[in-house]
Amino acid sequence: MEKRDILSMSFDELSAAVKELGEPSFRNKQIYSWLHSSCVTSFNEMTNLSKALRQKLDDNFVIFSVSIEKKLISEYDDTQKYLFRLHDGEFIESVLMKYKYGYTLCVSTQVGCRMGCKFCASTLDGVVRNLTAAEILAQIYVAQRDNNIKISHVVLMGMGEPLDNYDNVMRFLELITDEQGQNMSMRHISLSTCGVVPGIYKLMEKDFQLTLSVSLHAPSDEIRSSMMPVNKKWNTDELLTACKKYTDKTRRRISFEYAMVSGVNDSDDCARLLAKRLRGILCHVNLIPVNEVKETGCKRSSKERIESFSRILEKNGFAVTVRRKLGSDINASCGQLRRNSKKT
Ligand code: SAH
Repeated sequence: MEKRDILSMSFDELSAAVKELGEPSFRNKQIYSWLHSSCVTSFNEMTNLSKALRQKLDDNFVIFSVSIEKKLISEYDDTQKYLFRLHDGEFIESVLMKYKYGYTLCVSTQVGCRMGCKFCASTLDGVVRNLTAAEILAQIYVAQRDNNIKISHVVLMGMGEPLDNYDNVMRFLELITDEQGQNMSMRHISLSTCGVVPGIYKLMEKDFQLTLSVSLHAPSDEIRSSMMPVNKKWNTDELLTACKKYTDKTRRRISFEYAMVSGVNDSDDCARLLAKRLRGILCHVNLIPVNEVKETGCKRSSKERIESFSRILEKNGFAVTVRRKLGSDINASCGQLRRNSKKT
C-alpha cells in the first residue's frame, strides 16, 4: 500500500485518516499541531505519542518535507537563497528576505515552469511537475526551523506558475492560514501570475484577502506576445478585463509587475499606453529592472529610463515603486540557482 501524503491533508482529511487507523479523535489535533505548528519532519519527533503509534503513522503516512541542498547568503543584505531537494531528487528554490516588518519567503509552486516567458530562467527547460501543498508548506517550515524565526509573509513568486497548479496552491493557502497551524494572515500573502485568466476568475470567487500580482510586463499585445507566450492564449484585453472584475469584486488592489527590458518595453510611449490601459483598475505598478539571465539576452533598462517611465505613470495618478534588488550576488531571481546547480 502506498503511504499517504499527510502534510497535504486538511484537518478534516487527517481526522478521517486517523480514525481509519482506529485511533481516538483527540490524536487529530496533536498530530496536526506537530505537523503544522511545530513543523516536524518525522513522526519520531512527535514525542507525546507512543512509540507504537509513531510507528503506525510511519507505516501509513509520509511527511513530504524538503531538505536543504545548498544555501547562499548575500553579503549585502542577509538575503538567503535556498536550493531544496525534494523526495524524488528534484530541486526547487526559495528566497528568504528580511524587511522591517518581518521575514518574507518567496516560494516555488512547480519544478520548472511551462509558461515560457523569454526573460525568465525558471522556464528554460519547461515544467517537470507540480509541487504538492506539502512541498510548498515545507519550504516555509524548513526555512523557519533553519533560522529559528517566524516567517510572517509569503510571496508565491518563486519557480512555477501558481495558477497552473491551482488545486495544490489552494490547499496550501488553506493550510498556511489555518488557526491550528501557522495562522498566517491572508493579507500577508501575495500570489503572482503571468496571466492565466481562468485561474484569476476562479480565485476571484474565493474572495481571499491576499494580494494578486499580475506579471504584465508590456502595455500592448504585440510587445507582450513577444515576451510572454501566455499572451497568445489570453491577450491583454482579456487579462485586464479579468483584473478589473477581480478588483471590483474583492476590493483588493492588484500589483502589476513590469520587468524593464532595455529597448523592448521601456519607452515613454509604452509608459503612456500602460497608463491608458490601466485606468480604472485599482492597482499599483511595480517596476523591476530585469535581472539579466545569460541565456535570455535581455538587457536591463538604464536608471534614467526607469525614472522617466515611472514619472509618466505617477503623473497619470498611479502608485509606482521600483523594486529594491535583494540578493543579486546569490542568483536570487527565479530559477537561476537550480539551473546553475544542474549544470555542475
Ligand atoms: N509565474 C508567476 C510567478 C513566478 S515569477 C508569474 O509569472 O508571475 C515572479 C516574477 O518574476 C514575475 O513577475 C516574473 O515575470 C518575474 N521575473 C522572472 N524572471 C525575471 C527576470 N529575469 N528579471 C526580472 N523579473 C523576472
